[in-house]
Amino acid sequence: MAYVETKKWIVEDVDLNYPQIQEAAMWIRKNEVIAFPTETVYGLGANAFSTEAVAKIFQAKGRPSDNPLIVHIAKLEQLQELVNEIPAHANTLIKAFWPGPLTLVLKKGEGIADNVTAGLSTVGVRMPNHPVALALISEANVPIAAPSANVSGKPSPTTAEHVYDDLAGKIVGIVDGGATGVGVESTVLDCTAEIPMILRPGGVSREQLEKVIGLVAVDPALEEDGQAPKSPGLKYKHYAPKAKLYLVDGSVSFLQKQVISAKEKGKKVGILTTVENDKTYQADVILSCGSTIDLSSVALNLYQVLRKFDEYDLDVIFSETFSEQGVGKAVMNRLTKAAGGDVINE
Ligand code: AMP
Ligand code: MG
Repeated sequence: MAYVETKKWIVEDVDLNYPQIQEAAMWIRKNEVIAFPTETVYGLGANAFSTEAVAKIFQAKGRPSDNPLIVHIAKLEQLQELVNEIPAHANTLIKAFWPGPLTLVLKKGEGIADNVTAGLSTVGVRMPNHPVALALISEANVPIAAPSANVSGKPSPTTAEHVYDDLAGKIVGIVDGGATGVGVESTVLDCTAEIPMILRPGGVSREQLEKVIGLVAVDPALEEDGQAPKSPGLKYKHYAPKAKLYLVDGSVSFLQKQVISAKEKGKKVGILTTVENDKTYQADVILSCGSTIDLSSVALNLYQVLRKFDEYDLDVIFSETFSEQGVGKAVMNRLTKAAGGDVINE
């Protein structure tokens, strides 16, 4: 891949006439890829109608070609160009949660580039709740296909610096709109079945969805080992820090015991914990990612903390586990993937 000088467009105060946004939108229209903030994580965007533009996303990230992309829109009219059917429950969800961290999987329409959906007959669409993302999509005047703006396998980026660390030299530019607000990706909901099914837990919880449309199913692969996930991306290793991560399901003293036995083997050890416990442990590096009584704070800081561990040259990291209530479901899904499924039970 040819080296490109990656531009940084800092956006502090958003309006459509902001020259940085206009420049970034111009590159989208020229079928180049650029990174931009959303309320969940930073996205790596390209014109969803151009196969050539979308191919550059897969190349820059090193993303497997069978992993489809989510298409981002700024106005409801753009949905008509992307899908050929909107079931009633999808319309209800759109009214309740858009703009917001909910991706709806619907039957795909014509026109959309084939590599966006990795050849599937469905497409994932969402309207992000971030003024910079909305302004960029409006100004580009095309739907923007965008996965998270990290190198495949690494934790998703929640700041422009994370994107720069991963993709400098590989993309034309990054719109820097500051740190993102939710911290974990959108919930992916398959709306093609009679009972909508969560394929990936995320920023909108099952409880929130059920309040609006009643019964919502969950892909059995999210709950049981050995099942193939219905969302192609979920079979890949993801979110992993450089050091081996283990989830520890047990007491503070049980986790501390794991640290002691790793230290006896000469290992450099990190602990991922919360403000409630970070003074209780002893280890080489102890990082807190929020408070157990506010799981949205854990979601917000999770990827940043996973990336931070990479600065210390650790051998192993032990992480506490979290309640799966609300956004805790998404937090545990990402941590379990980051650990490659390795949990130590007390
Ligand atoms: P990312 O944008 O990197 O957060 O990844 C998007 C996630 O949405 C991946 O897990 C994809 O497999 C999933 N996804 C996107 N489109 C579809 C679709 N049409 N059907 C099922 N899963 C999808
Ligand atoms: Mg991703």
